[in-house]
Amino acid sequence: MVIQQNEMEVAALSDKYASGAAWMNGEVIPIGEASIPVNDWGLIHSDITYDVVPVWNGGFFRIQDYLDRFFESMKALRLDPKMTRGKIQEVLTEMVSISGFRNSYVSMVCSRGLPRVSGSRDPRDCANYFYSWCVPYIHVIKPDIEVIGASALIAESVKRIPDNSINPIVKNYHWGDFTVGLFEAKDSSYETVILTDQDGNITEGPGFNIFAIRNGTLITPKSGVLSGISRKTVLEIAEGLGIRTEIRNIKKTELLRTDEVFISTSGGGVIPIAKVNEQIFSDGQCGAVTLEIRKTYWTWMNSPAYRTEIFYKN
Ligand SMILES: *Cc1c(COP(=O)(O)O)cnc(C)c1O
Repeated sequence: MVIQQNEMEVAALSDKYASGAAWMNGEVIPIGEASIPVNDWGLIHSDITYDVVPVWNGGFFRIQDYLDRFFESMKALRLDPKMTRGKIQEVLTEMVSISGFRNSYVSMVCSRGLPRVSGSRDPRDCANYFYSWCVPYIHVIKPDIEVIGASALIAESVKRIPDNSINPIVKNYHWGDFTVGLFEAKDSSYETVILTDQDGNITEGPGFNIFAIRNGTLITPKSGVLSGISRKTVLEIAEGLGIRTEIRNIKKTELLRTDEVFISTSGGGVIPIAKVNEQIFSDGQCGAVTLEIRKTYWTWMNSPAYRTEIFYKN
C-alpha cells in the first residue's frame, strides 16, 4: 500500500514536470509557471545571454566547457547576476534532478533585468537576473532525418548580422536574421538555413556550426560564428581520428563543391547535410567521414571522461 502511494506520488511529480522545469528565485517550478516581467530588458532589448548544456543518459556533457562559455558571455555583456559558478552548477543539477529528465536540453539565462531606479535608461542601473529551465532533449533536425541527412538552403534574402554589431561569440537571442532565413528555407521545403556574412563567407545556422570535408580535410568557418562546444568536440574528434582540419573562411561557391557537409550542435550532435541548395552531397546520404565523426560523438557523450552524473530525485 505504501509502495503504491509512492508510485502515485512519483507519477504525479513527473506529470508536473512532464513539459519541463524551471529554476527561478531559488525555486524549481513547472516550466508553464515560469515567467519574466514584460518590461525586462532581456525581452524588450534582447539584452540577454544564455547557454545550453545537454544531458544525456542522466549526465551533463562537458558541463565545465558550457559554464566557461556562459561566464565569458556574461562578462562580455557586463552582466553579473551575483551567482558563483558553483551555485549555477548546483542549480542546474537540482532542477534536472527534480525534472527527472535523463535526456534534456538545459538552458541557463542571464538577462539585464529591470532598472533598480524606475524609468532609468542606464544599463548600469539594472538588477541582472539569472534563471534556468530544462525540457526534454531537443533535436535541431528531426531524429529520422538526422540519420539520413538534412537539406539546407543558403539564404539569399538575409545576411548574418555583422560581428562588429552583435558579437557571435556571445550566445544570444538576436535571431532576426535566422528567422528571416528559416522562412526562406521552409518556404522552399528545406529543413534549415545557412547564412553568409556580408562578403559571401559561410557563417552558421540557427543553433549550429557548419563543417565541410574536401579531399579528406575537415574545414569549418573561422569568423562570424559562435565557438560551439560541439564544434570544439568535432575538432578534437577529428584530431584523434587523424583527420586534417582547417579553420578558415569558406565561400558559398567552395562549400557547394565539397564532398561532405555536416552541422554540429548540442541539439543532436553531428548531423549530416545531404543537400545544400540544388547540390546533393555523398549521394544524398550521410558521408563516410561524417558517419565516423558522428559515431565518435555519441561514444563521447556516454564516456565518463566528459560526463558529470546527476543523482535523480525523480
Ligand atoms: C548554440 C549555437 C551553436 C552551437 O553551439 P553548441 O555549443 O555546439 O551547441 C552555433 N551557433 C549558434 C548561433 C548557436 O546559438
